[in-house]
Amino acid sequence: MNRNKNYKVLFSNLYKDVQMHENAKMSEYTNFRVGGPVNILLTPNTKEQIIETIKICKENNIPFYILGNGSNVLVKDSGISGVVIKLSEFNNIVRNGNIIKAESGALLKDVSDEALKASLTGFEFACGIPGSVGGAVFMNAGAYDGEISFIIKEAEVMDEKGNVITLSKDKLELGYRTSIIMKKNYVVISATFSLKYGEKDKIEGRVSELTHRRENKQPLEFPSAGSTFKRPEGYFAGKLIQDAGLKGFTLGGAAVSDKHSGFIINKGNATAKDILDLIEHVQKEVKKQFGVDLYPEVRIIGED
Ligand SMILES: Cc1cc2nc3c(=O)[nH]c(=O)nc-3n(C[C@H](O)[C@H](O)[C@H](O)COP(=O)(O)OP(=O)(O)OC[C@H]3O[C@@H](n4cnc5c(N)ncnc54)[C@H](O)[C@@H]3O)c2cc1C
Repeated sequence: MNRNKNYKVLFSNLYKDVQMHENAKMSEYTNFRVGGPVNILLTPNTKEQIIETIKICKENNIPFYILGNGSNVLVKDSGISGVVIKLSEFNNIVRNGNIIKAESGALLKDVSDEALKASLTGFEFACGIPGSVGGAVFMNAGAYDGEISFIIKEAEVMDEKGNVITLSKDKLELGYRTSIIMKKNYVVISATFSLKYGEKDKIEGRVSELTHRRENKQPLEFPSAGSTFKRPEGYFAGKLIQDAGLKGFTLGGAAVSDKHSGFIINKGNATAKDILDLIEHVQKEVKKQFGVDLYPEVRIIGED
């Protein structure tokens, strides 16, 4: 952490009415429940505030990191230097016919509820993904044969020069857990989804079926970031890890879940180092036994 700047003063005009969190512990803002402090965590609630916050960071050479709901990040124990811009307060959802436009901090669950209310189908796959719209577009999140690329119409993004532009679906370069947002460090401001009218009962049934599948298969009772590794072509990460004999393998407070070997969980008192060491151990074992490289899906950030 860089302790030499007075971050609060830099942002005081912009955040008169919104609390600024100095030395915020990232363990409190991420699903994995690990990670050291960041100099300051800001929660803008308008588009202008997001743009202005990033402008101040750039003008003052302050590194900044965008956080959605923190469900796919692992922050290291020494924390993050600079600013975390957490978008959870920027979360408006507007529906117009079969089109839903959501601000980037809106939760996927809330968009899914909005779709269900209007008997719109297509968003059910995302009802149990504990992320925000921005994080989901960034990752091209997907589950149960659905993914963001199937339903997104366009996204409003901030490019590397600070311009806000609208990119249609084909310009978003959405692939398996990747997007132009990830490749070029863009910021998602909002996303627009095009859904289809369906039967409310069927949509509701699918949502509850997928929710039960998650509850039965995933260790939702423990902090994690979901699937720790990307799916290697031709394999399933969880199966490889299980076949390598690593189911339940524990290192410090981190463990390969007994319930789903694709999940590394925090058993309660893990450090980020425990989790990172376990990720490395799993990678080495799977490579040794099956010759397959596993790459983390979880975004690892912060300082050693
Ligand atoms: C129990 C569990 C189950 C999960 N199941 C699934 C699943 O089925 N399918 C799946 O795909 N994922 C799954 N995940 C992972 C995660 O929920 C998704 O990747 C989700 O889309 C991340 O959204 P987030 O808002 O939490 O992003 P964060 O974790 O906050 O951030 C993830 C990345 O996105 C970037 N980012 C976030 N918002 C923006 C923005 N507005 N603009 C630019 N960059 C941004 C961040 O900088 C970071 O690099 C699961 C996670 C958990 C804990």
